[in-house]
Parts: sequence; C-alpha cells; structure tokens
Amino acid sequence: MYIIAHGGVGSSRELDERVNAAVKEGLADDAFQTVVGVVSALEDDPVFNAGTGSRIRLDGKIQMDAAVMYKGDIGAVAAIESVKNPIKVAAKVYETPYVLLVSQGALEYARSKGFSAHDPSTEARRKELSRMHAKLHENQELHDIYKGVDGGDTVGCVASHNGEYAAAVSTGGTSFSIKGRVGDSPLVGCGFYADEYGAVVTTGKGEDIIKRLSAYRCYSLIPEMGLQGACDMVVEDHIEGSSIGVIAVDKDGVASASSKQMSQASLCMD
Ligand code: ASP
Repeated sequence: MYIIAHGGVGSSRELDERVNAAVKEGLADDAFQTVVGVVSALEDDPVFNAGTGSRIRLDGKIQMDAAVMYKGDIGAVAAIESVKNPIKVAAKVYETPYVLLVSQGALEYARSKGFSAHDPSTEARRKELSRMHAKLHENQELHDIYKGVDGGDTVGCVASHNGEYAAAVSTGGTSFSIKGRVGDSPLVGCGFYADEYGAVVTTGKGEDIIKRLSAYRCYSLIPEMGLQGACDMVVEDHIEGSSIGVIAVDKDGVASASSKQMSQASLCMD
C-alpha cells in the first residue's frame, strides 16, 4: 500500500504531523476505504478547511465539496451543508448510479442515509469571516479581492493497493466565496482523477484548476514523464501567480509538488 495525503497548498509544514496522524488513523484494507478514512480524519481536525473547520461563506453559511474516485467510478457532493463528513456522503453516492449530488439534493440524500445534522463552524473560522467582512467594508470590491485569493487548507489523499488506485478530496472552498460557488474539488479531472496509471488530487484556487483540468493533466503525463515529472510539470505550467499543489500515486510510489509550502505525509508499505 502506498498513501500520500495533504493539508492544502499554503498550509504550514508544521501541520505535517497532523496529516500523518490522519494517514495512520485512516489506514484500511483497500485503497478506497483508506482514502475515505484519511480524508474523514482530516475533516475532523478543525485546523483544516474541510468538514469541521471549513471556511464560512460570506453569507455566514458553510458549503462543502467532496469526492472519491476508485475503479472507474466516482461519488461526489457539492455545496452540501450541515454534515460532519462530506467525504462519507460522497462514498455513499459512489454506491449509486450517480456521480455528483449538489446542495439540497445532496443534503436530503445524506439524511436519508442516516447522516445527522452537524454544525462544522469553529470560533477561528467565525473570526476569519469577521475579518473578511471588515475588508469588504473598506470599499474593496469583492471581485477584486477574489482575484487575489489562493486555495488553502483543503485536504486530499491518494492511495494504491494491489494495482488499484483511489483518490479522495474534501474542502470548504476558498475564502471570500459566495453561496453556491463550487471549485475544482468535486469535479472529475479538475480536483481528482484515478485510473489505470495511478491517482492524483490537486489543491489551489479552484477556478484556475478547473480551467487547466489539472488533475487529469497530471494523470495523463504519468506514462511519459514519470510520477514526479508529471507533478512538477503541472505545477510549473500552472496559471501565472496562482498557487497549486498536487499529490499522486502510481505502482512505484508517491510524489508531490506545490508552488508554495503544503503540509503532507506519506506511508509506503510493501
Ligand atoms: N481547491 C479548493 C477550492 O477551490 C481550495 C483549496 O484547494 O484549498 O475549492
């Protein structure tokens, strides 16, 4: 089993230990259960922008995105509110013939599967929201501020086991997000991809990652450039001035690359 997880591009390497704790907690018998378990543990750590501790939207609500891909199938949720572990809801969607459930539909599906109400907000995020509102009151246009926004503290994990690859990702979105905004994370080929060559997860400003289809691009470069080469290329080649981080796994091991620091941890077991 090979596993690598991250705590978001821009997150301090001092958080590596917390990512590592999640990797150990999530470790399971197959790649699917492992990536869901690791991401779920990261969602429960309030320091990361996923699950509990997700960023709060400008309207005061939290909307979260999550996805898992394994053996050619996908389960994803977008703009879901009031659940503890969006990745576990995505893992339930994976069992259906659907790929992506959004907003109220995703929430109703979650409740029908027994996911109870949970408030993912934290004191730290409420303070962050007050600072964002203050910035908007300084007569700065939201769209101008948003141009400078980077990703941050989103979580992801990829794993391989017995020739099968899995990718999972979860986020509360970027700062200064408005209600209904969805980034790259729950979109196949943008925030994640997994198939016969390996698995990839990205982090960064979702709008820019969507424009580049960064996860699929990285994946498709693996045969030609090798795992590390593919990760480096996607980071080097990204939209100028926009941050990106990527983690990937293939049959030989794990790799990562990022335009600025990114907390991460990996585990390689024969
Ligand atoms: N990619 C995430 C988004 O745009 C943010 C992040 O990676 O930190 O929603």
